[in-house]
Amino acid sequence: MRASESTNLYFNQAADQLDLPEWIRTLLMTPKREVTVQVAFERDNGNIQTVLGYRVQHDNARGPMKGGLRYHPAVDLDEVRALASLMTWKTAVVDLPYGGAKGGIGIDPRTLSKRELERITRAFVDQIHEIVGPDSDIPAPDMGTNHEVMAWFRNQWEKYHGFNPAVITGKPVEEYGSRGREEATGRGVGTLAVKMLKRLNRKPEQTRTAIQGFGNVGSHAAKYLHESAFPIVAVSDVTGAYVNPKGLNIPELLSYSLKNQGLLAGYQGAERIDPDELLGLDVELLIPAALGDVINAKNVDQIKAKLIIEGANGPIDPEADAKLTERKVLVLPDILANAGGVTVSYFEWAQNRQHYKWTLDRVRQELDRTLSEAFESVWQESVSKNVSLRTAAFMLAIQRVKRASELAGWFV
Ligand code: NAD
Repeated sequence: MRASESTNLYFNQAADQLDLPEWIRTLLMTPKREVTVQVAFERDNGNIQTVLGYRVQHDNARGPMKGGLRYHPAVDLDEVRALASLMTWKTAVVDLPYGGAKGGIGIDPRTLSKRELERITRAFVDQIHEIVGPDSDIPAPDMGTNHEVMAWFRNQWEKYHGFNPAVITGKPVEEYGSRGREEATGRGVGTLAVKMLKRLNRKPEQTRTAIQGFGNVGSHAAKYLHESAFPIVAVSDVTGAYVNPKGLNIPELLSYSLKNQGLLAGYQGAERIDPDELLGLDVELLIPAALGDVINAKNVDQIKAKLIIEGANGPIDPEADAKLTERKVLVLPDILANAGGVTVSYFEWAQNRQHYKWTLDRVRQELDRTLSEAFESVWQESVSKNVSLRTAAFMLAIQRVKRASELAGWFV
């Protein structure tokens, strides 16, 4: 199934519950604007390479559009379209005053030198600078991009439009970035896990947890959950899965990966198993925080966890999702579970516009408040309408976007 088909399927499940007429569905699902641009840049050897760049602006009824920039060989218009629409529902479910967008370039950034990465980023800005801006569409990091890319993006955009750091978020802290942005998504995953357990009257100490992915999201989620007394019995990255049924030494794993270029390869403090085996381990909580579609029709029957929190975007494909719902596995959906990142991006944008810096404590408090309110609303919706947490999250988001569109006038 294509990425946009999965997103539209979830949208339609919620729209059915809301009894939305066809014309509203079509209007809300169709992106406002899709742009494909030529990005030509000079390689270090003097050759000129040409690739395609994309920006899809899905919806702006609730505010300026917001969404990351992904540099990855699999990036194409369909993937960017699906991710842009997910951003509309994500910003709506956490009630940020934003719409949704996404962008990217179909290239593997690992094949580029740092200077090439800078050149390709500046060339991309040259092509799209007129359609992004602090009041219209605000990019951020995603797979394959980081705070340095954001700093180049801002610098190039300001050459056309003048000083305005709020044009992009996820910038370095010294360059108008926000404290707490780096940890925000993983911390949000951890915060929501604690809230979900409270609702279920379960104790963290008795919730054995496995986390797939030990990058930005997975490692910060592991840190937060470890500090909240969850026994984390397995973590994995691209190099393997590391298991200890009594609980892994997370501080040791964090410092190991820091010294080892972000990788767990060679870690001796736990048993190493095949990375794919992690998903089927006997645990209470599973957090896929690496890639999309990792839980699918082929392996869904092996999943033993009764709770799943989607740290990654789209880690469960729709067929597997239906089976898990049937089996009463509780899935906290990506549009809520990993919304911590865009929430702190919003705080960064707000700080930039106020020319004021928040303390880390304030960022964490506001993040906790925002996610708690969103979690409670989704939980209530799920209970009162007797639907999955995913359908409940989509229902809330769709109602908010629909209401804003009605208030502003559907066609303006
Ligand atoms: P990252 O590149 O920092 O980390 C990805 C991790 O996954 C790495 O540890 C990598 O080794 C691991 N991995 C790759 N292939 C694997 C495999 N086959 N098995 C096990 N592990 C594997 O990326 P990230 O920023 O942590 O993002 C992870 C996911 O979360 C993505 O889907 C991303 O779209 C989503 N997300 C990220 C943010 C954010 O703020 N970083 C926000 C929202 C959503």
